[in-house]
Amino acid sequence: MRLIKKTIEQFCTAILLFFIAISTMSSGNAAEIAIIIDDMGNARRDAKAFDLPKEVTLSILPHTPLSRQFSQRAAKQQREVMLHVPMESLGNNRLGPGAITSDMHPQAIKQTLSSALKSVPHAIGVNNHMGSKLTQLTLPMKTTMEFLQEENLFFVDSRTTRFSKASKIAQEVGILSGHRSVFIDHVIDPDHIDQQFKRLIRLAKKYNQVIGIAHPYPQSLAYLENALTELDGQGVRLIPVSEMLKSIELSRKAQHQQNNQPTSVTGVVEETKTTPVSL
Ligand SMILES: [Zn+2]
Repeated sequence: MRLIKKTIEQFCTAILLFFIAISTMSSGNAAEIAIIIDDMGNARRDAKAFDLPKEVTLSILPHTPLSRQFSQRAAKQQREVMLHVPMESLGNNRLGPGAITSDMHPQAIKQTLSSALKSVPHAIGVNNHMGSKLTQLTLPMKTTMEFLQEENLFFVDSRTTRFSKASKIAQEVGILSGHRSVFIDHVIDPDHIDQQFKRLIRLAKKYNQVIGIAHPYPQSLAYLENALTELDGQGVRLIPVSEMLKSIELSRKAQHQQNNQPTSVTGVVEETKTTPVSL
């Protein structure tokens, strides 16, 4: 009896996911972008990011002078907040406080994450700051994802290296996850920012859901303030990161049910020469 009930439940879930997938695919207006402004917390001038539409998510570095204040201000605006966790890079870049490195024991990683999280109240997810070395390593990534699962947080892989295992491990552990497709301002130049933003829009029209990451540089914030007001005319919707990850998860499950094999509709990885290699 229990077996029949379970089979019926599985069948109903499959039907539901199938229709969600069909409606997502057949919607002519499905292009969606999510934008994360990270590296927030060190400079007062970064507060200009609060003028952006509230669907733009802010990712705040832990233990910085403005971690707590920025986090609370974002929450008041009903804007999503993420914790921007510094992770060891191949380039030996300075990581700042709250960093995770490859020499740390799993228990130390969890303690560091827990303390970082306390300095950014209201955080509902995490993305990595740098991390080109750490995100390639299985044990620290598994420890990180297990911590996020315990805290009910999602993960966005900044993909500072194309060899990152972070997204894959996040999926294996079973937390809500996605990855960055475009760095909007890796080069701080208005023409480059414009090019990258247009690339984000192109990818959204092709793959439906993409995540872009930018930084609180005055040039980026000024550009985005303008560009984001013109999205409606282009048939592109700006949504909060958590909303995007939920819809990515549904599509992933629906596709998995259809194909009965682990594939991802979010495989939007079109590396360019401008993708940083040593962050
Ligand atoms: Zn960063």
